Amino acid sequence: MRSPARRREETAMHDHRKLGRELGLFDTDPLIGAGLPYWLPDGAAVRHTLEEYIRTAERRAGYRHVYSPVLGKRELYEISGHWSHYSDDMFPPMDLGGEQVVLRPSLCPHHAVIYRSRSHSYRELPFRMAELGGMYRSELSGVLGGLTRVRSIQLNDAHIFCTPDQVAEEARAALEMIGAAYRALGISAARYRLSLPGPGGKYVDDPGMWRKSTALLTEVLDSSGVPYEAAEGEAAFYGPKIDVQVTDGAGRESTLSTVQIDFHQPGRFDLHYIGADGAKHRPVMIHRSIVGSVERAVAQLIEVHGGAFPAWLAPTQLAIIPISDAELPDAEALARQCAGLGLRAEIAGPERGTLSARVREARLVPCQAVIGAREAAEGQVALRLRDGTRPASRPAGEALARIAALVEAHALELRL
Ligand SMILES: [Zn+2]
Repeated sequence: MRSPARRREETAMHDHRKLGRELGLFDTDPLIGAGLPYWLPDGAAVRHTLEEYIRTAERRAGYRHVYSPVLGKRELYEISGHWSHYSDDMFPPMDLGGEQVVLRPSLCPHHAVIYRSRSHSYRELPFRMAELGGMYRSELSGVLGGLTRVRSIQLNDAHIFCTPDQVAEEARAALEMIGAAYRALGISAARYRLSLPGPGGKYVDDPGMWRKSTALLTEVLDSSGVPYEAAEGEAAFYGPKIDVQVTDGAGRESTLSTVQIDFHQPGRFDLHYIGADGAKHRPVMIHRSIVGSVERAVAQLIEVHGGAFPAWLAPTQLAIIPISDAELPDAEALARQCAGLGLRAEIAGPERGTLSARVREARLVPCQAVIGAREAAEGQVALRLRDGTRPASRPAGEALARIAALVEAHALELRL
């Protein structure tokens, strides 16, 4: 049996708050404020790579990206229902020339207005509108910490405007995207939850609507074959949802991804499309997020991988270690080749200490290239991989092409 001290040590090793700071990924400053972390260059590299992966996956799945402002007039949230159902989690409004504007608590109202700004034929549906956008939540300072409880959130969000017939298929496709992303990221779902309303919550009062959307989500879950549990009191105020739950290093569970069916906001915003019959019809809105907030997703990645990210996500993919100053020009040439291939490389020169200290310092980096006199003379690269394996020496161009292929494939395993 493990001692309590040993257990504490293991938990601390996988705490993203500690590891994220040690690895120079993110930090906070009391002058900026609690719950408002900033991203250091290495953390920004991980985040940027994650965001690009998501955008590309969405583009391939037929999503169109938009940008919308993080502020909106109070009236916008009165129409959406956030003002009456969700204002406890919102920042106080700002008075501005006789109007009140608020920091948005979600992206949905903006997207509904964008949809409404143009007329839509049934032939254009489903309209899959995506945005990685900022939103804000007035979390109490006592619960803030690291990247998981923050006041400023970057959400991987999308809203699918579709006909009632298309809802089940679109929700199912969104669940499949979540599964594919988890496989590439090395994240596993702890469980799937059908989140239903519960007693005492602030929910939209429309029993027929709740029945209809709950039946649809149940059908999607049943046909997808994933085991799930229903949980009361976890729905959004406007509808039930499928939540994909993950656990952190300390065993705490939270929601990372979600698929929601909403018959409420399309009515509130008077959205419509022109059907085959030439008449106006009401679309359904599916809210879905593949990795949830970027902050929470990166926290999960840090904890799951203990800082040893898959090669495609790693802030530094190749550590170039010249044995002495004499090989520095060769190290620099190799770094330039990496940059040309879009690989993130860093030179750890002799000024950083002994060879073994530099090798140890780069232990979380997927690949290391130690360059001695022989490698420099022959233009060869001898790689050491993070798991200790050492593939045969290869010409520099060939070795880098293999790393680039691994990155391109979003491979989880290091095999060259
Ligand atoms: Zn939404």
